[in-house]
Amino acid sequence: MQQINFSQFASNQSSLFIPGTPDESILFAVIDSRKIHSGKETLFIALQGSRHAGWEFATDAYAKGVRNFILPKICPSSLLKKLANANILLSISPLKELQQLAQINREAFRGAVIGITGSNGKTIVKEWLAQVLSAQFNLWKSPKSYNSQIGVALSALGINPQHQLAILEAGISAPDEMKALQEIIQPQLGIFTNIGSAHDENFKDTTSKIIEKCLLFKDVKFLVYNKDQELVSNYLASSFDPSVRISWSDKPGADYVLSVKPHRNGTKIYMMGKDLRTFTFYTSFRDKASLENLRHVITAALSLGMEPLMIQQGLELLHAVDMRLTLKSGLNGCKLIDDSYNNDLAGLELALEFMHQQVTTSGRKILILSEIQQDGDITATFKKIAWLLGQYDIDLFIGVGKGFEESKALFPCESRCFEDTDSLLKGMETLSLSNDLILIKGARVYKFERIVQKLEALAHETILEINLNALRHNFMHYRQKLKVGTKIMVMVKAFAYGGGAAEIGNYLQEIGADYLSVAYTDEGIFLRNNGISLPIMVMNPGSFHLDLLQTHALEPVVYNLQQLRTLSASIDDYSGELPVHLEFDTGMRRLGMTEEDLDEVIEILLHNKKIKVAGIFTHLAGADEAIHKDYTLSQLASFEIWSKKLMDNTGCRPLRHCLNSAGIIRYPEYAHDMVRLGIGLYGIEVNKMEQNKLEPAMVLKTVVSQVKTLAKGATVGYGRVGKMKTEGEVATLAIGYADGYDRRFSNGNAKVLIKGKLVPILGNVCMDMCMADVTGLNVCVGDEAILFGEQPSIIDLADKIGTIPYELLTGIGPRVKRQYVLD
Ligand SMILES: *Cc1c(COP(=O)(O)O)cnc(C)c1O
Repeated sequence: MQQINFSQFASNQSSLFIPGTPDESILFAVIDSRKIHSGKETLFIALQGSRHAGWEFATDAYAKGVRNFILPKICPSSLLKKLANANILLSISPLKELQQLAQINREAFRGAVIGITGSNGKTIVKEWLAQVLSAQFNLWKSPKSYNSQIGVALSALGINPQHQLAILEAGISAPDEMKALQEIIQPQLGIFTNIGSAHDENFKDTTSKIIEKCLLFKDVKFLVYNKDQELVSNYLASSFDPSVRISWSDKPGADYVLSVKPHRNGTKIYMMGKDLRTFTFYTSFRDKASLENLRHVITAALSLGMEPLMIQQGLELLHAVDMRLTLKSGLNGCKLIDDSYNNDLAGLELALEFMHQQVTTSGRKILILSEIQQDGDITATFKKIAWLLGQYDIDLFIGVGKGFEESKALFPCESRCFEDTDSLLKGMETLSLSNDLILIKGARVYKFERIVQKLEALAHETILEINLNALRHNFMHYRQKLKVGTKIMVMVKAFAYGGGAAEIGNYLQEIGADYLSVAYTDEGIFLRNNGISLPIMVMNPGSFHLDLLQTHALEPVVYNLQQLRTLSASIDDYSGELPVHLEFDTGMRRLGMTEEDLDEVIEILLHNKKIKVAGIFTHLAGADEAIHKDYTLSQLASFEIWSKKLMDNTGCRPLRHCLNSAGIIRYPEYAHDMVRLGIGLYGIEVNKMEQNKLEPAMVLKTVVSQVKTLAKGATVGYGRVGKMKTEGEVATLAIGYADGYDRRFSNGNAKVLIKGKLVPILGNVCMDMCMADVTGLNVCVGDEAILFGEQPSIIDLADKIGTIPYELLTGIGPRVKRQYVLD
């Protein structure tokens, strides 16, 4: 954003301003205190979240140096005292103030603004258009899909004076929402992507939804839309001047006729303009949605006066929008964050934020960055990069591109510069990369995927992909079932159900888990060695290694009396208290003490103050099935009585916890102080009651290694049990039972998804490979095959072979690469 004087801004608002000293100008506006690294020139705006009030984090922001605040009027006056000498604006609606600030920044902007709305494709059209236009303009675009009331404001705040163009998307879900977004964006060029059924329930009919969306285009000079969308097209024709409307269609009669025809592996797009000029574009995309999005992009770029040839060059660099950041393991113990898709400052900041969450202990934090193509003020760009390097504690900066060499002096860390990607590849050895966390971010033209390939660990191409957005979604789903204040312990035992304990643990720490739990002490130590600072409960510490537990701040479970006696006898030598969780067996009959043990437990606790009871818990044996309801309730009742007796007699006030994932859904009223979330985090709802509310977080995929055409009757694999019913093709996939793809999936018991079709496994699954019938699908070597994900679902797969998703997930072998994606 441009520099804004806060007290001047405040004096124009009708809210109460408490001036502090000094009166600072602001350059950054932040709503999440965790994202502040140095609070200089920063404004913290406390918005109301669904569970937390933003003002609760004001002191955190203050501690980080922030001295400018917008707080809700209702925040406690004790808070204001803690923010000594700060400039504080007390407002009825901090969100409105944020939007006002965004509007000021927008109005100061001299360049053009493009506003995109519609039901689908907004983000992709924005990303692609930005990519095509970036050849000619220094532009700003909304990060990711920041299109809400908050997102749009933050997007507009990102516009800097040196930009020439900004592309912002706007999304609404109910009436009366667009006006505020229009006031911020004030686009001169509009794009209406399309109208679909999303949020229909909030509108009288589709036309009222179109009308609401079109409020964004109130003052546009040009409006791009698809004439074949009848309802949209009719409404626009009745309400917008012909000089404003720019339509495209498959058929003649629109301003741009853009018809599509399949062509080799892709599509040809024939264009004829109003002036009868023609041109043919080529793209590798073939699907309907992408072709619609592309034609919006082409029309918008043409309307901005871009030459077709230049647009074509841009199209060649496009690929399915993979805005996802991927965390992979690399050679020499390095971890790679692959963001070789595009390069702009907003994206850089998001990627650095993601890197920041993945704490490494041993190695350096390294950023490999290609030059950011800017026509504007180059020094401002370098300054911003330098600032980010400092904010995120980067140890080594590696710049690729000619411009970096001269600006090296600006950077606050060690830096190396390479003229182009080839010289970096040649000079890679000189960097001594080992155990480092490396963010690789470059514009498409730099082909940074070659760097990623070179640094990637040599593993076979079978991947378990963990979608962190889905993980977060599922976490939030369980959280909203619980009363505010109930803690969530996440079970990350067994390598986080196969998903990778360090990465998932770090992410859980970021999204607000309160506790983690593992089965064995080693697993806990592993988490500590990977930067996890949350409290960790160890379920089965075996014989207590007090030193190890203390060194790594692990909280053991005490599940039998003998353990407690031994602990009590040995803890005298121990300095400080040992937090433990007492497990009671109310009916699971696995681990845990029983009612008979209770008196002695109390006795020991009364006499040994070094044993601190951090938690008391029990585990339910049948929370996932209605038929066990009485049994479950009796378990919960016993727990209530026993835990109460223990607390009454010892005076301790531990966290009480009983519920696993299934229990949270069925018996949320028994959550007590904390729940223990496990399988649900990965999108598996074992009660089968709320499956549709969760998102699958794990996808197992591999590639086709070979394709064979076989005659009718030919047999496939060991034991010749697979038989071709007709002539057809068989694909060999690079996964077998050694990777955890169960041998019981043989002979059509499981299907895999290839080229959008579910096809059966043919013959027996082998140790390292298996075969699938891909007759008629035109499958090629290297094509992707999905073993489970959205489809086929792991739940159905487990059902098919008489097991449970837990077993399939935790059985995925160490040879399978884990990759973490965040969109
Ligand atoms: C594994 C485990 C859980 C989590 O179970 P899910 O069914 O995966 O939710 C909870 N508590 C204990 C004691 C566990 O062992």
